[in-house]
Amino acid sequence: MNRWHAARMDSAVHRAQNAAEINQPSPSAMHQAEALALLRRIDQRVRQQLAPQATAIDQQALYPQAMLRGLGDDGAYAALLPAERGGSGLGLATLMAAIAEVGAACGSTAFLAWCQSACVYLLLHAAPRAELQTILAELAAGRLLGGPGLSNAIKHLAGLEAMRLRAEPCPQGYRISGELPWVSNLGPGHLFAAAAACADGDKLAFLVDCDTPGVQLNAGPPIAGMGGTRTLCVKLDQVLITPERVLAEPAAFAGFIRRVRPGFVLAQAAVGLGIVQGCLDDILAANRRDGEQNRWLDHSYDELAAELAALWREAKTLAPLAEAGQLAAPRVLRLRAKVSELCLRAAMSAQLHAGAAGYLLSHPAQRRLREASFIAIVTPTLKQLRREIHLAEQTQPA
Ligand SMILES: Cc1cc2nc3c(=O)[nH]c(=O)nc-3n(C[C@H](O)[C@H](O)[C@H](O)COP(=O)(O)OP(=O)(O)OC[C@H]3O[C@@H](n4cnc5c(N)ncnc54)[C@H](O)[C@@H]3O)c2cc1C
Repeated sequence: MNRWHAARMDSAVHRAQNAAEINQPSPSAMHQAEALALLRRIDQRVRQQLAPQATAIDQQALYPQAMLRGLGDDGAYAALLPAERGGSGLGLATLMAAIAEVGAACGSTAFLAWCQSACVYLLLHAAPRAELQTILAELAAGRLLGGPGLSNAIKHLAGLEAMRLRAEPCPQGYRISGELPWVSNLGPGHLFAAAAACADGDKLAFLVDCDTPGVQLNAGPPIAGMGGTRTLCVKLDQVLITPERVLAEPAAFAGFIRRVRPGFVLAQAAVGLGIVQGCLDDILAANRRDGEQNRWLDHSYDELAAELAALWREAKTLAPLAEAGQLAAPRVLRLRAKVSELCLRAAMSAQLHAGAAGYLLSHPAQRRLREASFIAIVTPTLKQLRREIHLAEQTQPA
């Protein structure tokens, strides 16, 4: 094991120990030990399986399918489910620590792990239908993979764009048509969640297999980063959604989105927190080589590490509240916005600390610049977050 690996491992175990504290209030010793064991498994998988592939995922659009399934084997996604639903009950904060561990090595894979977890979270809170329960178990185990195509609906609810999918009621359920320009973690045998509007403006959320007749997956123009995320343009033409695949009927739609959104957004924030950790790893490595000159730079290791720790403290407070359905949206949106801002600062700082080496396409600091900008442009985007926070503060001053 070289020095870099030794340092990386030390910091991973340290993070795992921190993450074990990131748990429900007063976690039992057994609970903590289970969380720590999960994070150690993930740390090992990240080092052995993911780290050697990070460049190919970024530059050759390698889709890390085995890694995503492996995270399911390890129990990462099942952390979201209570024991009575077949999970470990370790909770959202532990899942966030797992996603962040992945994100420190590869932002694309962490985003995919979020996509998968988001599907699990949606199904956990969906209408209790037998078919959805079976799918939930498969998703939580990583045997079935999927993505959430909900950016459009979330932006629509914030008054930012029209619904892109239309639903027509039919005797067997609904027929859905329209197009979503970007949905990640897709492919043959995968599924995705989305929402559509009926002619009267009512909306519903549903789950659909990529192989269903009428679903077309098309590659879009080349993207600057996140190349391995299998992000595709989805076209739906009169796709049949039977009642068993409806996550939330129109009468329950608004409540469903309100219930899932805080946890959904928090889990996504973990991708950014992981990228910041990766930037800190890069800065540490650069400082070993050129610490004297690097002290003239803004956003030092210590400053960024303190900001990261503060965001983790807030995240671990918010996670159990989100799971209990007791978290007001503005607080989580503020955290999510701060994660985007810190990501951008940390990635630029990592690039400057790494110097010319960090300008090589093969250097992680270069990749993290693109991963960090993605965190700020994926829904909820930084501009949407600032707008929503501003509107919330106007109606309810902080
Ligand atoms: C790599 C990547 C992965 C993503 N993964 C997902 C995902 O899994 N699920 C999901 O729901 N969303 C996903 N998105 C979409 C993302 O969350 C944003 O909604 C999207 O980037 C639009 O951002 P914006 O709100 O800043 O709109 P803007 O960029 O300001 O765009 C303005 C309008 O143009 C539309 N638009 C933008 N690009 C296109 C395009 N190529 N074709 C047609 N219309 C377009 C937007 O929908 C919007 O209505 C992904 C985006 C990227 C780049």
